[in-house]
Amino acid sequence: MCIAKSDGSLAAAPPADKPQQQQSSQAKPSSSKRLLALACLLLLIAVITIVILLGLLASRSCDNGASESDGLQSRRSPKSLTRAVYLDESGKACQHQDIRLPKSLLPISYQLLVRPVLPSQGQKTSVNFGRVKMMLNCSRPTDAIIFHVGAGIRISDLTVTAAQRLDEVSRQRCPSLDLLYIRVSRQCTTGELLNVSLSFEREIEGDKLDGFYMAKYKDKNRALRYMASTHMEPPEMKATFDLEVIRDWRYKSLFNMPLARTVPDTRCSHLTNQSGCHRDIFQTSVVMSTYLVAYAVLPMDYVSLQKVVKTSRGSIQVGIWAPSSSQNQLDFAMSVTEKVLPYFEDLFNLSYPLPKLDMIGVPQFAAGAMENWGLIIYRFSTLLYDPNYTTTIDKQTIAEVISHEIAHQWFGNIVTMKWWDELWLNEAFAVFTQYIGVDAFKPGWSMMDRCYVEFVASALQTDSLLHSHPIIVPGLSDPNEIESMFDDISYFKGSALIRMLDAVIGRRTLKRGLIIYLNRFPCRNAASSDLFAAFSEVRWIRFLENRTYGS
Ligand SMILES: [Zn+2]
Repeated sequence: MCIAKSDGSLAAAPPADKPQQQQSSQAKPSSSKRLLALACLLLLIAVITIVILLGLLASRSCDNGASESDGLQSRRSPKSLTRAVYLDESGKACQHQDIRLPKSLLPISYQLLVRPVLPSQGQKTSVNFGRVKMMLNCSRPTDAIIFHVGAGIRISDLTVTAAQRLDEVSRQRCPSLDLLYIRVSRQCTTGELLNVSLSFEREIEGDKLDGFYMAKYKDKNRALRYMASTHMEPPEMKATFDLEVIRDWRYKSLFNMPLARTVPDTRCSHLTNQSGCHRDIFQTSVVMSTYLVAYAVLPMDYVSLQKVVKTSRGSIQVGIWAPSSSQNQLDFAMSVTEKVLPYFEDLFNLSYPLPKLDMIGVPQFAAGAMENWGLIIYRFSTLLYDPNYTTTIDKQTIAEVISHEIAHQWFGNIVTMKWWDELWLNEAFAVFTQYIGVDAFKPGWSMMDRCYVEFVASALQTDSLLHSHPIIVPGLSDPNEIESMFDDISYFKGSALIRMLDAVIGRRTLKRGLIIYLNRFPCRNAASSDLFAAFSEVRWIRFLENRTYGS
């Protein structure tokens, strides 16, 4: 290397281990000195060039705001996108730049009243009118009330009250995050209860298949029928839900919970040729996540197969719903349910906590099915079995989907992941246990032998792609990133991991770990670390057992 001399010229530094060579070079004639200086200059230029190149590489790494290992993670995960600045309707930056809600206000209960108007009621457009009252607990002083409001929902009559009414100071709506940000005149105090009430109105659309949406089908007389059902979001901040549905007399409604009573209502009488409509009032739900809330408004053409399913812990009213033209296609779904539901109760040593479980087949649905607590919604093709037309492989698929959704009543509904970055806690376990459930239903189908073909191979294939990502992706906040988590990695790689775990620690230990995990967090949220802690605990318990009994 080169060092600077006191006069500012450059000279070659002697290797520390060769002081004699420096003395030798100083004894050479002046031409040799010039050559040495030239060589040193060239060496300096080379070193400077290398330093500049290294600097450029380093600065590119800094541009990504991450170390090399972080850069690798960002290439392999949905976090690779630079964080966007979310804007409100007027183009200003949103005051809350995260789809996750702050925990300064925690919901306790929601009271929801809806009055859907469908096309068959003589209207050109379909609209859902409603009013919601949210009770919130102030866990940290704040003057900001933030909650999700879906696209296309018009808000009116918003009031915030504590002991007295709080004046609204400002309001900001951020469509890209589906957020409404309200600032009120004073901060709440810790432990104070706030009531937020508002009216809402939204067209019931048939093309987006989310929120409360409409679907249509032709009945056995080829007449067009309309129905509407839900497909909701997100997981954290559980609360109870009360629902009242004001409906046309030609419809019936379903909710997560059983119907408490029906009373006459005059609110939509001007829309019908008949006298008035009805208000269905449902029982208060258990504490649950918002994404599990579901209700459906069905034409009277819908029929159900009803059965009281006995379990070792009690009984559950099961209903399978479909249009009357499919009335003869409900038995298979019932036979799967009456076997798998009690089986899972025993397997997880934890009761199904609701008094009923309804399953509805709908004409159009964004997913194969959705595990709403007590009101599972399916596509027709994943619920209805016609012995004359359904293929054997489709019959097996129906059994798998039903088993998957019932497994979710524990993995997801009773114990919910804290956030979407740990989606595998819901989906991977539902996939793996769907095989266990169908295996119990039809041992002859050798379901556990099919795992490798049906999900391990899919996981390997997707995981070999550049856009693959870890099973857990911490810090997801962008709605598009969350959407991307619903893929083969969360579902199939996660379940392949559980299958490996099953093989390594054994079914007995796996089962005991899951029992600890599920029974420790009922109606609460949990993280992967809680699951691993449960497995570790079982290993420790088994170690003690082995030492005690000498087995
Ligand atoms: Zn699922």
